[in-house]
Amino acid sequence: MTPESASDPAVKPLALTGPALPEARMHLHTPADAGTGVVVSSESCLRGKSASFVRHVVIDVSQTRLAGNFLAGQSFGVLAPGTDDKGRPHQVRLYSIASPSFGDDGRGQHVSTTVKRTIDEHWETHKLFLGVASNYLCDLQPGDPVRVTGPSGKRFVLPVDRSAHDYLFIATGTGIAPFRGMLLDLLRPPSGPPCTSRITLVMGVPYETDLIYDGLFQELAGQHPNFRYLTALSRQGQDDTPRKLYVQQRLETHRDEMVEMLSSPRTLVYICGLAGMELGIFRELARILPPGAVEQYLTIAPEVREDIDSWTRTLINRQIKASRRVFTEVYS
Ligand code: NAP
Repeated sequence: MTPESASDPAVKPLALTGPALPEARMHLHTPADAGTGVVVSSESCLRGKSASFVRHVVIDVSQTRLAGNFLAGQSFGVLAPGTDDKGRPHQVRLYSIASPSFGDDGRGQHVSTTVKRTIDEHWETHKLFLGVASNYLCDLQPGDPVRVTGPSGKRFVLPVDRSAHDYLFIATGTGIAPFRGMLLDLLRPPSGPPCTSRITLVMGVPYETDLIYDGLFQELAGQHPNFRYLTALSRQGQDDTPRKLYVQQRLETHRDEMVEMLSSPRTLVYICGLAGMELGIFRELARILPPGAVEQYLTIAPEVREDIDSWTRTLINRQIKASRRVFTEVYS
């Protein structure tokens, strides 16, 4: 709460109101009225030899209503051709936009996303399962047409006044997509100086070879002292610790700087990736933040406040409610 709002009961604290967000354009193309983009490029976004296949796919949407009308953090839809096993057309699949709001081309005409091939085995029949849309998108070649919808999502975006806030971005796996776009919006704007706010990205993957856009983030960290890039490897040790870490444990390994950053009334927390990370992060916020700071992010019912270890996901939105300074996009 700012000194001004503290003295004026009519001014609500930021945790209740949240920052002002830009007006996001929505549903300019529906599945019934999809636009047609053209693939510009498709490149692996992993540096090492990983067991996964993750591609950065760039699509020219200049002939669609998406052109110039999307924001980093929004999603767009992809309609894979063909039909499902019941003979119905495949449903639209949503992908997070990995572009900055000015597009991968600097003019809002090229939108990109981060796609991991879904390759799995049926748990009972042990037959191979290939995700329809992810493999369709990863197979596409430059010049191929692709039917797109959207954009969608209006809350998981940067605030209007970017320099009024500091940012803690926390991602697992392909949940990194929106943060690539947001970081480029903040640090490499097409005009004007880069944002000097404090920005920390925590990126969690199984192994070092799974780190997505690692080269870009290292480059940004080298160029911008206000940008901190932390990784959390869940299945191997890393430079600063032999421990295997989940993203939320970075709040503990970097406790002093995290408490300082999160105690500031400027900080916004963005979470994207696996659903399980949300609970882990909420637990860690409740553990490390002193009373007075934790309320900026979470409202915790008195009956569960003391026993953080027993928290489960079912408490979220009931006994544990995130404030308007927390932005979450997670999938099971
Ligand atoms: P991945 O490469 O497998 O990485 C996920 C990482 O998170 C692994 O290191 C995993 O560790 C760790 N993890 C597992 N459970 C966790 C927990 N409870 N708390 C913290 N970390 C945990 O990821 P992926 O295959 O790309 O999957 C990413 C997920 O994000 C997908 O479900 C995707 O649908 C979702 N996603 C969401 C959006 C969005 O909401 N807009 C956008 C893109 C992706 P271990 O495997 O070692 O346990």
